[in-house]
Amino acid sequence: MSHDAIHETTGFLVSLVVHTVLVLVLAWWAVRAPTLGDLTLVVDTRPSPTVAPEDMTVAMRVSPWSADADQVAVERVWAPPATIDLPADAVVFGPTSSPWVPTGEASTSAELLRGGAPVRGGFEGRRGDRKAERLARGGGTPASESAVALALAWLAAHQESSGGWRFDLSEAPCRNQCRNGGTVGSTTGATGLALLPFLGAGQTHRDGDYRDVVHAGLYYLKEHAVPTPHGADLQEGTMYAQGIATIALCEAYGMTQDDSLRSSAQRAIDFICWAQHSAGGWRYYPGQPGDTTVFGWQMMALKSATMAGLDVPSPVVNLGERFLDSVQSGDGSYYGYLTPGRTPGTTAVGLLVRMYTGWRRNDSRLSRGVEFLSREGPSKSDMYYNYYATQVLHHFDGPTWPAWNDQMRDYLVRTQATAGHERGSWFFQDQHGLKGGRLYTTAMCAMILEVYYRHMPLYETVAVEDDL
Ligand SMILES: [Zn+2]
Repeated sequence: MSHDAIHETTGFLVSLVVHTVLVLVLAWWAVRAPTLGDLTLVVDTRPSPTVAPEDMTVAMRVSPWSADADQVAVERVWAPPATIDLPADAVVFGPTSSPWVPTGEASTSAELLRGGAPVRGGFEGRRGDRKAERLARGGGTPASESAVALALAWLAAHQESSGGWRFDLSEAPCRNQCRNGGTVGSTTGATGLALLPFLGAGQTHRDGDYRDVVHAGLYYLKEHAVPTPHGADLQEGTMYAQGIATIALCEAYGMTQDDSLRSSAQRAIDFICWAQHSAGGWRYYPGQPGDTTVFGWQMMALKSATMAGLDVPSPVVNLGERFLDSVQSGDGSYYGYLTPGRTPGTTAVGLLVRMYTGWRRNDSRLSRGVEFLSREGPSKSDMYYNYYATQVLHHFDGPTWPAWNDQMRDYLVRTQATAGHERGSWFFQDQHGLKGGRLYTTAMCAMILEVYYRHMPLYETVAVEDDL
């Protein structure tokens, strides 16, 4: 073989290797193509479907119920005719029968969150006779239930063919007929948040009017969970989405005990536990020192996991309480964002988590915090604050609950979009609403109106429950 021939052969071999590698890379790329969304979203570092740190420095608001009552309400203008059918008459109550986790079992596992404390708060109120009873007892109305039903119909109509949702509504079947898309990029966060109101109303992939919707959404989350040595990464951007998507998986598993969801939910919880900062908090990225809003979603995920019978290491919960200690003021009646403070939104998060981790109802720190929120009243635009504060006041069930509930419930019923394609949705222009858009706002408002039955009471005695 001549020198040239050897040279040519070498060149051929190099070329062969290069092209083979190229073909393999392209083949891999083609195989990966359906999940390309993962790749772009993994590097999406835009934070927060809810609150950015700079937003949380906002001082305490003045009462949102003064003077310009209608100014912030959803602006109603002409909208194109709806192309997706929404129910003319809303369903007042959801499914009336279901295989359910026995009360005793759920409350026993709930107590694991803080050994022996009177922690309840399970999912058993979401369906059947108990749902009707909880609704009536808490102050829900046929109008509030109709609003929930319309919200679910709107959410279902904006699910993508992939089974997921997006905050910017860009892939929703309505094709820009709805205004106010959000800017947050995480589809796992959007999908988790959109699923929660269905689950809250007792609609699962096995039961109810939205089985296919819920099934497709859960499947989307399972498909988009990135396996890691530390558990299932559902962030697509930040830990906000991890917390929210994990709550949806845990609730769905807890409500159905469907074995096919168990490992997905457990691995998502494992990731949250791994991502906790050594001082007990969570923030945008795993291992960062915490902020109260990201912390709140993770703690609620751990709580949902406990209700569902999944494994939550108690040191993680105990360390979470230490984080709350680090941002509390007034001996624990008020909470800040990164440091001790007293803003309404973070105070509502802190108090709700305190309730779940075992503070008793007669704890004076709790009653002072509840009094603070009651004086503050519901916000006309901040549904993040309303979501947590409404849960705190409902669980506390004190003399201020009826007044809060009347304002909150009627305001949401009054401001829900009633015409055109936006019918059934909400949008309020605050810092969270702008980021999460109409999808976020609608999910939060629906869950506020589900407060009566979404979680069983934390403070009722067993004897009272048995009498019902
Ligand atoms: Zn739309």
